[in-house]
Amino acid sequence: MFRALVALCVSLAAVAPGRAADKPNVIVIVGDDMGYADVGFHGCKDIPTPHLDALAKAGTRFTNGYVSGPYCSPTRAGLLTGRYQTRFGHEFNPANGPNVGLPLTETTLADRLKAAGYATGWVGKWHLGTGERHPLKRGFDSAFGFLGGAHSYFAEKGKGGTVLRGTDDAKETEYLTDAFGREAVAFVEKNKAKPFFLYLAFNAVHTPMHATDERLKKFADIKDNTRRTYAAMMWAMDEAVGKLQAKLKAEKLDRDTLIVFVSDNGGPTMPGTTTNGSVNAPLRGSKRTTLEGGIRVPFVLSWPARVPAGKVFDAPVIQLDVLPTALAAAGVESKPEWKLDGTDLLPFVTGAAKGAPHEALYWRFGAQFAVRKGDWKLVKYDAAAEGGKGTAPVRLYNLADDIGEKTDLSAKEPAKVKELQAAWDDWNKGNVAPLWGGGKNKE
Ligand code: CA
Repeated sequence: MFRALVALCVSLAAVAPGRAADKPNVIVIVGDDMGYADVGFHGCKDIPTPHLDALAKAGTRFTNGYVSGPYCSPTRAGLLTGRYQTRFGHEFNPANGPNVGLPLTETTLADRLKAAGYATGWVGKWHLGTGERHPLKRGFDSAFGFLGGAHSYFAEKGKGGTVLRGTDDAKETEYLTDAFGREAVAFVEKNKAKPFFLYLAFNAVHTPMHATDERLKKFADIKDNTRRTYAAMMWAMDEAVGKLQAKLKAEKLDRDTLIVFVSDNGGPTMPGTTTNGSVNAPLRGSKRTTLEGGIRVPFVLSWPARVPAGKVFDAPVIQLDVLPTALAAAGVESKPEWKLDGTDLLPFVTGAAKGAPHEALYWRFGAQFAVRKGDWKLVKYDAAAEGGKGTAPVRLYNLADDIGEKTDLSAKEPAKVKELQAAWDDWNKGNVAPLWGGGKNKE
């Protein structure tokens, strides 16, 4: 009798007031500057990522998962708004300053989910501004992390500004990735009785290259120093994801939690970027380029209650889709006046909708641009990717049989070049001038 009562209480507690069964939790996890090749589910051999692999296995992974830019801040702006960041001038990384960052005209996923009754929390790297642009002013109820674009992982090295809890110095002493994992778990513990949205934006595996001795020892067989440190940093992030997964499971929330994992841009592998030992193969190019290596990233959507497990989805998707997907999951109707560029992916991954979520995807990053339509890609990219200067000429690739963008087909297929250029020109009419310069492209 007593046991039955306990069981009844436990089951009542599991459906606490405020938690509607049709409102899943939403967790968006972002990795920073990861190489396309550097996860187990893309075949990585020297760095195990068991928890990210488990996430991919529990959900659907996207082989053609993109971000809308090749740099940190712009893609995070696109992610949180569901709009191409070039629509509102957030084309480049903002410099540090009081009045730059995600424009106040824009509404974030946190704003929208908060309005739908979610508890909202940010943990990690922000890189979308300070002051009026602080996470607490952009829809988040709680905040833990740093506001800039890069940060040391050890407190004693102290670079990258203060790690904040809310607006106060958190006086953090733990290795930063471990601290973010700890805070993510604490957020779930605090908010487990109601629907929650957690934006867990790691700065791993962005420079500076800092790893704990214990994790470095695990990768002693990797001879290259930078790659070894990168592996240890990736392992730390994977462990943090594992702790979050374990917490969700322990609270029996795993089935009803939608999780997205995405890297904010590709690995920085070319001269002129702060390289971190990442590998983008078989893709060509690097962070800072509109080649595939800069914009195609590891991308997973998991929601055991609704999204098929172990599925591989090949049609192109983009991080702009995260907002409409999360809102649809939460039962929030996206309005035309929000001018979203993203698409709800749920009907596509469940098979309710056929075909591709997008007719075409577009990029603009200063003089660089790209458009992908079907298997075709027209691209103008940073010539540093091939040891040159300035911007390379416009090139056409067919990604179906040339994922490494090696064979330029622009001379052979002039009609296709014209078609894609016209599509891009048309899309570009909906963009505005950058609100700040990209001259330095500060990382
Ligand atoms: Ca980045």
